[in-house]
Amino acid sequence: MVLDAPRKPLHPLELPDPMPAPGHVLLQVRACGVCRTDLHIVDGELSRPKLQLVPGHQIVGEVVSGGERFGPGTRVGVPWLGWTCGECRFCLSGQENLCDRARFTGYDLDGGYAELVVADERYCFAIPDGYRDDEAAPLLCAGLIGYRSLRSAGDAERIGLYGFGSSAHIVCQVAVSQGRSVFAGTRAGDAETQEFARSLGAAWAGDALAGPPEELDAVIVFAPVGALVPAALRHVRKGGSVICAGIHMSDIPSFPYELLWGERAIRSVANLTRADGDEFLALAPTVPVRTEIERFALEDANEALDRLRGGALRAAAVLVV
Ligand SMILES: [Zn+2]
Ligand SMILES: [Zn+2]
Repeated sequence: MVLDAPRKPLHPLELPDPMPAPGHVLLQVRACGVCRTDLHIVDGELSRPKLQLVPGHQIVGEVVSGGERFGPGTRVGVPWLGWTCGECRFCLSGQENLCDRARFTGYDLDGGYAELVVADERYCFAIPDGYRDDEAAPLLCAGLIGYRSLRSAGDAERIGLYGFGSSAHIVCQVAVSQGRSVFAGTRAGDAETQEFARSLGAAWAGDALAGPPEELDAVIVFAPVGALVPAALRHVRKGGSVICAGIHMSDIPSFPYELLWGERAIRSVANLTRADGDEFLALAPTVPVRTEIERFALEDANEALDRLRGGALRAAAVLVV
């Protein structure tokens, strides 16, 4: 399924089989998760995708050939981080997620909305046993980047997750298993999502803009809604933090300095490192994280994106190939 230009639907196209370069694996795609970032790319909110592009960066596939790290038939995952330079100041300081020349799967490189994909084996992950292909796919971005966001919240005990979708439903399970209290913020009146959050152990679920009845230590904002940032600042205690986990957000409205005063902090979380992936994929089965998914056929990718755009998905959308 390819994107020819932003704001156009994807369309099915028969492409030549990709050939793995040295150090790359050719994968038969089994499942590919649909991420909000895919939607930002398709909707033209991120400025520089490769065109024409095969989107998709939560890929679970089986090695067909190539590389040395994984044998044929091995099940591996391909995440958003597809390549880094290894020599810039960020790569050399354990922050490869910020590499100036990083290439991203399903953005700079063709991704997993396809039957075949090639990937640099150094950036692939082994997939933990105990997850079906479709269940494992959302771990690869919703899970990984959600986990990085949770880690950047430090030891926050009372943690808000605003925008309770595919990432938050995973982070909620991890946070609860760590003994934290989760406060799930949704659109006002979204009783179904609020009930879903409570079923995963959230202590409170309600309107994110209004906020919970008690002060929080940190809030992770997953929804691409800038107005949630000053709202979340109102909800955190002195010294608390607001972490923006998405790659794109509508403008943040201006707000009185008083909301930031008291050593409150706002920060973003960008991309992932391979260390994040190794750590999270080892942790997930011990929680154990269970992913709630909604399956779509590959050729129904546009429908999956439409449902995500319209807020009509409760679970993580996964294309099953
Ligand atoms: Zn670099
Ligand atoms: Zn993603």
